[in-house]
Amino acid sequence: MVEGDTFQKFMLDALEIRGEWVRLDDSFAELCQNKNYPESLRKLLAETTAASLLLTGTLKFEGRLSIHARGSGPVSLLMAEATHERAYRSIVNHKAEPFESDDLNHLLGKAQLAITIEPDKGQRYQGIVPLEASNMGDCLVQYFDMSEQLDTFFMFDSDANGCFGLMLQKLPDYRSIQDQDAWDRVTQLANTLSFEEVSGHDNETLTHRLYHEEQVSLFAQEPVRFQCTCSPERSLASLNALGHDEVLDILEHEAKVAIDCQFCGAHYEFDRADVNALFGLGKMH
Ligand SMILES: [Zn+2]
Repeated sequence: MVEGDTFQKFMLDALEIRGEWVRLDDSFAELCQNKNYPESLRKLLAETTAASLLLTGTLKFEGRLSIHARGSGPVSLLMAEATHERAYRSIVNHKAEPFESDDLNHLLGKAQLAITIEPDKGQRYQGIVPLEASNMGDCLVQYFDMSEQLDTFFMFDSDANGCFGLMLQKLPDYRSIQDQDAWDRVTQLANTLSFEEVSGHDNETLTHRLYHEEQVSLFAQEPVRFQCTCSPERSLASLNALGHDEVLDILEHEAKVAIDCQFCGAHYEFDRADVNALFGLGKMH
């Protein structure tokens, strides 16, 4: 795919519409390596990851954002998290069931999509979208409609080597422009894009092809990368959440408590001294 792992914003200046391109390439291929995901799951993971990165473009501060769902269908957990620096991590867990369709309702069953925004400084915010739409893009359109009352358009496509995503969004001042057909025109043009076209051309060419009749500002391209945020401290914090008795119970049978990061595979181990220190025992008083 042209341009590798990248994120890029653009503005249709006179129309009060913003756009973003995201492309996942080597980082995503690496993420899927050795996982043998069925086609529909790889696609779901790609789109959710791309979506989380597109959503970081709407953040007005430094921090991170996640899309998260626990399902009752073949997919038990779906999560993608991305930061304002376009670093992401994502995961899909599934049961050994056949995956009959790409429909989100089939894959996740009865579920809700939680979108959590965590500023580095300030209050955490969570929006919940009931899972009614059959794909990730439509769920997120619903999210923006509910949370910010902004019309939004998403388009995703992927293959075994990567994924692209396009987001268009009306800015609040759209309502004051003369040209009220602009949104329909701009989204219809976006719908004409094919995966072959996106794979074979850079963002500048694509943006020009679609919107050469508009005044477009294309911002600098930003690199996208996989980065896990796990750490010994965070793993210890999860032991804390489990509770002292539960952890001691594990240590009755095992020499150490082991935690494997589901995102990156990092392995953390804690022995009895670590656990006692965590729960405030073994300290000198
Ligand atoms: Zn990790």
